Parts: sequence; C-alpha cells; structure tokens
Amino acid sequence: MSQLKNDCFALGTNLVKFDYALGELEKITKPVVDVEKISIDSALMRILAEDIISDRNVPPHNNSAVDGYAVSYDDLSESGETSLLLAEHITAGHPLVGSAMRGKAYRIFTGAKMPIGSDTVFMQEDVFVDENKVTVPAGINLGANRRLLGEDVAEGTTILKRGQRLRPQEIGLLASVGLSEISVYKKLRVCVFSTGDEIYDPSGDAPDGCIFDANRFTVINSLRGLGCQVTDLGILKDDEQTIRNSLEEAAVEHDLIFTSGGVSVGDEDHIKSAVESLGNIYFWRLAIKPGRPIAFGQVLKTPFVGLPGNPVAAMVTFIRIARFIVLRLSGVSDDIHPKLYRVFAGFDFSSRGGRREWLRAQLKVGNNGDLYAHLFPAKGSGILSSMVNSSGLVEIGEEMSQIRNGDLVNFLPFNEIYT
Ligand code: AMP
Ligand code: MG
Repeated sequence: MSQLKNDCFALGTNLVKFDYALGELEKITKPVVDVEKISIDSALMRILAEDIISDRNVPPHNNSAVDGYAVSYDDLSESGETSLLLAEHITAGHPLVGSAMRGKAYRIFTGAKMPIGSDTVFMQEDVFVDENKVTVPAGINLGANRRLLGEDVAEGTTILKRGQRLRPQEIGLLASVGLSEISVYKKLRVCVFSTGDEIYDPSGDAPDGCIFDANRFTVINSLRGLGCQVTDLGILKDDEQTIRNSLEEAAVEHDLIFTSGGVSVGDEDHIKSAVESLGNIYFWRLAIKPGRPIAFGQVLKTPFVGLPGNPVAAMVTFIRIARFIVLRLSGVSDDIHPKLYRVFAGFDFSSRGGRREWLRAQLKVGNNGDLYAHLFPAKGSGILSSMVNSSGLVEIGEEMSQIRNGDLVNFLPFNEIYT
C-alpha cells in the first residue's frame, strides 16, 4: 500500500465509478496479517492460511450405507431368489476378523466396514429371514448400498485452499481427514472512531442539539461479523488536531482504521485533511448513492476507511465497499463479493442514472410464488430504522434510469453480508 501514489485514483472533480474503485482496491489490497496455528475447535469464520491436502481416504474403508445383509454378488442367482446362510453380525466400529465366507449373508449395520469378499448389501426390508436362512430377491446391482473407500475424499486431494473462510462444513471436513490443528491468518486488528461534536455515547445523555452515536455500533458489529478483532476508540470532536493525533496513535497498533462522519466538504469535515497530513487519500468521491463521500487511504502505513456520517450511508458503503477491503486485508482470497439475486421489482423507479444506487427493500412472495422487492417508503439516508425493516438492498446500475413494476432487478440480501 505504502508504494501507492496520490494520483492512483481519479481525484478532484470527477466521481469514481463503483466498479473501477473495486477493481483498483483489488489490486492494492492484500493480506496484512500474520499466521497462527489454532485448534479447529475455535476456527469458526477464521481464514485458512494454508492449502489442505488430505493424507488419507475418507471413508477409510468400504462400508455399508444401510442396515441389511452383506453378500458376495457372485453368489446371487441371476433369474430368481437366492438362499444364503445367515452369518454373524457386523456392527459399526467392529469389523469382521478375517474374510467373508462364500454362500453367506452377513447381518451388517450402517457404517460398518464391509468384510473382505462381500461387495453388495441388501436392505433389511428386502430380504426374508427364517432361522438361519436369508432369502434375497434377484435384480440387485453389484455394489448396491456400499460406500467406497475414498469416495468423499481421496488421499492426496486438496480439500481446502488458502484464503477460504471456515464455515461449519469446512471445519467438519478438516476433522474428517484427521486434522485438529490448522494455520489461519491472525484476526485483522481494526479500530473504530465516530466523529462529530453532536455525537454522544448512548451510555449517557445527549445535550440539546445532539444525538446518540449509532455508527460505532453498526460498524463495530459488522466488523465482528467478519471475524475482526475490534477496538472501540470512541467519539472524536470536530477538531483537526484532535483527529490527527488520535489517528496517528491508532495507526501503530492496528491493521485498519475506520471513522464515520466528517468526510465531506463542510467546514467541520476534517477527516480528509487529517489523513492527508499523515498519509494519503486514494479516493473519496465515488459515483454512488447513498454515501458519495467515502474515503479510502492510509494513515502512516495503516489502511484507512472513512465512512459517511449518515447511518444508512455508513452501513451501505460498509456492505458494498468497506467489507471488500476488510476481507482482502484479512486474507480472504475468493468469493469476496456478496452474491446478488434476481428478483422482481414491486415498485416503479426513475433516476438520472450515472451512479450506482442502493434502495432499501423488503422481499415478499407474490401470488405466483415469485419474490418481489418492495421499497421502504422513507428514503433518507439518516433513517436507520429502514435497515431494520428491510431484508436487503436493490442494486441499480449506473446505466439504469427507469424501472417498472415487474422488471427484474438485482437484490443483495443482508444475510449474504457476513458469510
Ligand atoms: P457528517 O458526515 O459528519 O456531516 O454527518 C452527516 C450526518 O450524519 C449528520 O446528520 C450527523 O449528525 C450524522 N452522523 C454522523 N455521525 C453519526 C453517528 N456516529 N451516529 C449517528 N449519526 C451520525
Ligand atoms: Mg460531522
């Protein structure tokens, strides 16, 4: 990052397009975190720092997929029923000692190792047992109801890749190949400030003309949802010297700094100049709505994100831009962009175009079973309750200026964000 020049993004009067900004961010962000070994017990949502190659087969032996009777296919009559001698029980975890004998049916249970010489299993519902005789019908396929050694994971296969985030299924797969310790990236250390003379912590009172801080709580919890180690650094007054000192100090112990507010061009917006005096701003004016002023830069050598002050704008820009930065710096290598789903518009909309725009919407199932996005009535980017009462964001491309009820639109569900 530190090698970047000030002009790597279009600054000045031109608004930077959303896709261009993300493309540039992809080029200049890379993992900044060290590696540590941890137990899979505490690996949820951590990020793998190594490729994982299995040194064994899963399952490690052929085994029965059902409760039934294991036979040798060669013993079966092709045209009619076959009678076999009932042999001993083989239960899961207790393999037969020695090999199966021809002409016998072994009572076997799900997960039990197939005896050597047996290759096919009849389900118990399909056989007739009388004393020590088992009668089986014709027509079964060779290998029926048998799970093969290595059919899940073959020895030598790369099962997981560096940069993958560990969900329950990845952790289960690690356990299934016998791994209990893995290398992951250390958690990204992120600090969060709010800014503004009018912003007060909800643990006390807010004097006349002031409001409670919402952004620190949405941002901190969004970061925790992405697996970061977060430091809450409170609220900064609108004073450039204070802001500069606090940012400089924060840069030492953290991998990434977040602020919200103070990033536009008002007289009391000091973030941009404070950051520039300590490092660089790469962009701060994007062609997006809401949230046009969002800054990305660095304070000393530490990456910096300045979110807009309006609580909805802060959340939307976090979801669509800051999240990408966080995951890239954290070491995630693929699937970083949240997936957008095509749903029907339950609304009419028109805009001048030219900006990527996000509309808060609730998904509802229409009479025909299709999903429709219905816009939240209040549009202001200070209306945080709109985020609570929406299921996600309709994303509108720069070229799109007119949407009619029933058109297909892109929808980003909020529950895509922390996965
Ligand atoms: P600013 O970008 O500082 O001009 O702030 C834009 C708007 O967002 C103003 O109405 C601020 O009062 C509001 N705002 C800024 N920071 C916060 C915050 N942490 N929580 C709630 N509202 C905020
Ligand atoms: Mg402010």
